[in-house]
Amino acid sequence: MGIKTSAEYLESLKKLKPTVYIAGEKVEDVSTNKFFQPSIKEVCKFYDWTNDPEKRDDFVYWSSLINEEVSFWTHIRETKEEFVDLLKIMKKNNARNFCSFCMGIGPCVFWATTYDIDQAKGTNYQERLREFFKKLQREDLRFCLGVMDPKGDRSLKPSEQADPDLHLRIVERKADGIVVNGAKMHTSTAPLAHYIFCAPGGFLTEEDKDYAVSFAIPIDTKGITFIARPSPCPLNATQMSNPASIRHNMVECLTVFDNVFVPWENVFMAGEWEFTDRFIHYFSSYGRPVKATCISARTDMIAGAAALIADYNGVSKASHIRSKINDMVISSEIGWGCVMGAVANSVDHPSGIPIPDISMSNAGLYHTRLRFVEFLGMLMEIAGGVVTTMPIEADFRNEETRPLIEKYFKAKSDIPTEDRLKLLYLIQELTASRFGGYFLSSAICAVGTPETNRLEVLRNYDLLAQIENVKDICDIKT
Ligand SMILES: Cc1cc2nc3c(=O)[nH]c(=O)nc-3n(C[C@H](O)[C@H](O)[C@H](O)COP(=O)(O)OP(=O)(O)OC[C@H]3O[C@@H](n4cnc5c(N)ncnc54)[C@H](O)[C@@H]3O)c2cc1C
Repeated sequence: MGIKTSAEYLESLKKLKPTVYIAGEKVEDVSTNKFFQPSIKEVCKFYDWTNDPEKRDDFVYWSSLINEEVSFWTHIRETKEEFVDLLKIMKKNNARNFCSFCMGIGPCVFWATTYDIDQAKGTNYQERLREFFKKLQREDLRFCLGVMDPKGDRSLKPSEQADPDLHLRIVERKADGIVVNGAKMHTSTAPLAHYIFCAPGGFLTEEDKDYAVSFAIPIDTKGITFIARPSPCPLNATQMSNPASIRHNMVECLTVFDNVFVPWENVFMAGEWEFTDRFIHYFSSYGRPVKATCISARTDMIAGAAALIADYNGVSKASHIRSKINDMVISSEIGWGCVMGAVANSVDHPSGIPIPDISMSNAGLYHTRLRFVEFLGMLMEIAGGVVTTMPIEADFRNEETRPLIEKYFKAKSDIPTEDRLKLLYLIQELTASRFGGYFLSSAICAVGTPETNRLEVLRNYDLLAQIENVKDICDIKT
């Protein structure tokens, strides 16, 4: 049974007993805690879609691992075409709902890495992973990704830190498994997942081999503590005031591992430091196209909002506004084009999955995410200062103040003030709210920063070949 309903998901969440703190309190039951409700709705949405006759074509796949239909969440993309399908769904869905849970590409990254380790070292990590994926698929389970460590002093390697726990590490090897200690940061949605997948967040050298550790374990394993922060969706959110944050609202976490035991069958790397560069390479190859797709889709949304508010305000013909919207559209197309190019140029990994081109997707992401930051400012400019100064919805609902708001917030005479306000509240959430800050940070930091994009492009682009080419053109022989 590879497809669950959201009711079954909620039941399974109730059975888990993770140690979770949020907003100064210990959580008894995540499934009913008020701070988790907006994010639970978001996770449920994807379960609902796989059961919705009109949406299931986009969100249900056939798994060759278990010969059953599975959710897009747990499916391993075996061909370029399947990966393109996923990206097209994200492009459409994220322009409307902000997110398609891009960590779903995680399994491909672990798949390719475990294959490489097994080939070189004669280990059996991939067999373990295969069995684990079968369980994920059959039970339609959710997972989160714990890749980024707290990292401490960034100029020092893990073993050089004053506190050795600032990167997650193996502290003991036993006959039946390993014991790990340390933490992972920014683990999106962790208390709402069934499993946490961990892996190293950077290249490691031999002296740091205990930090080369990858595994998956249930979130309520003894010794794991989550300190979560509430999502940027207000607890009293409404469709009018919070059209963005009611659609997308992830809980983020610090995840602490206090001498946590992981059985061998759930361990996918234990000391093979030489393969941390492979993991990072595959993570980048998969993570950057999905992030670039996400930003391209969100840029589409921003372009739509900018065009609509310009129309409502009667300035849609102003040349500077047309030019700004044109730039948004061009940037969206560049990002999306790089994604499609990266997938078209995939190489087939011997484990049976395509690995997208790393340079193109990083270049596309670098471009679109930096322009995206500018576009948020442009959207604010096009909408005007009311984005931050307008009355809140309660005053619009108050019969005494509503007529004044109706009158003075009118722009073009044929557009109802209420419609203009609805759009302005969306723009406010995107550019000038707690959600806006989250939106910005998710564009700049999530799936690695712009600087990592620059490094990946430089590392993988053959600049030497271009130097030789120019020498040839100039007939330089030395
Ligand atoms: C909304 C959101 C969701 C996220 N979800 C997840 C998730 O689910 N799972 C997960 O694992 N991670 C997640 N992340 C983490 C994300 O991948 C990191 O934020 C990102 O990789 C940057 O790492 P950092 O935040 O530790 O910043 P840092 O690495 O501290 O970087 C800050 C700055 O310092 C620079 N810097 C850092 N180290 C060096 C160095 N040695 N030399 C020179 N410059 C350096 C960087 O280039 C950057 O400019 C999420 C992040 C966000 C914002």
